[in-house]
Amino acid sequence: MLGNRWATPSGGGNHETHIFVTHYHWDHIQGIPFFSPLYAENNEFHFYSFRSKFLGRDSLKQVFEAQMALPYFPVDMSAMNAKRKFKEVDGGDTFKIRENKITARWLNHPQGCLGFRIETPAGTVVYATDNEPGDPKLDESLRELAEGADILVNDAQFTPEQLNTTRKGWGHSSWQEGVRLAREVGAKTLVLFHHDPDSTDRMVDSILRQARDEFDSVFAASEGMVITVGETGDNVQAHMPGMRTTLRREAQFRAKVTGVTEGGKEFQEETVVRDISLQGALISLQNMPRLQSELQVTMETPGEDGLQSSMQLKGYVVRIDAGAEKGQSAVGVVFTD
Ligand SMILES: [Zn+2]
Ligand SMILES: [Zn+2]
Repeated sequence: MLGNRWATPSGGGNHETHIFVTHYHWDHIQGIPFFSPLYAENNEFHFYSFRSKFLGRDSLKQVFEAQMALPYFPVDMSAMNAKRKFKEVDGGDTFKIRENKITARWLNHPQGCLGFRIETPAGTVVYATDNEPGDPKLDESLRELAEGADILVNDAQFTPEQLNTTRKGWGHSSWQEGVRLAREVGAKTLVLFHHDPDSTDRMVDSILRQARDEFDSVFAASEGMVITVGETGDNVQAHMPGMRTTLRREAQFRAKVTGVTEGGKEFQEETVVRDISLQGALISLQNMPRLQSELQVTMETPGEDGLQSSMQLKGYVVRIDAGAEKGQSAVGVVFTD
């Protein structure tokens, strides 16, 4: 999605790009061969990662080559036309990329994983995925990495119960540990990341709700989400640029929708819900609700004997696309109650 977005005129694509690779587990490298900007001659990439004791020198370069070796991928490395430079970093390293200061720290994860702190003139972003609490030295290291972050992206794969029992030692964390860490280090916004592949949207939503009960500014990361730092001193906002739409069943219900706009104003409007499933709906609205804010949807449904009955649903805004008509947005909602 990022690669495709860069290809659009307003996509923010850059000729020189720096990519930090935390470790070599499949879920962190599998997208690389599919990242289309790597095939454009004019692009230049700088990759940062650590020397794995299992791979030795040029670990990441080897990973690239192994992934693209035949018969795992239709083209080999020679098709990757962009300039690529590989730099080895170690936990504790600090270096500068233009006006940004980067710090890498080891995290508690099988075969090692690096967390990255990126201090920019607009604010500090900390990316600390794949870490498990419980190792005092590495816990301290994570706290130092995350100190005062404007945005702290932390592992939230498991529920607190799983983390204490069946998933102990798997190298991951929970929303509760994330909230604790964010509080301890004074992070402003927490992003729950690395959702369990077995978690349904509904489960991720429940995790998000619990985290929000205990910390002011929390988001659950989702594909395509863009978070901006350094704008007007307001709270950090996340949004979803236009993205592919999914196929849903057609239906039509008149509905009243109540929610909060991006600007923080309450709104109420009437609309027709055309697209609904048990889990959620796609609703066309004139107001632009805030991403991940709560919506109340009251729908009129045809009851027995043609009598109208109404159904009250509560949900969260999970995506916002441009609507079919001008001035309208297509708002994706996941129902929670
Ligand atoms: Zn991992
Ligand atoms: Zn992972």
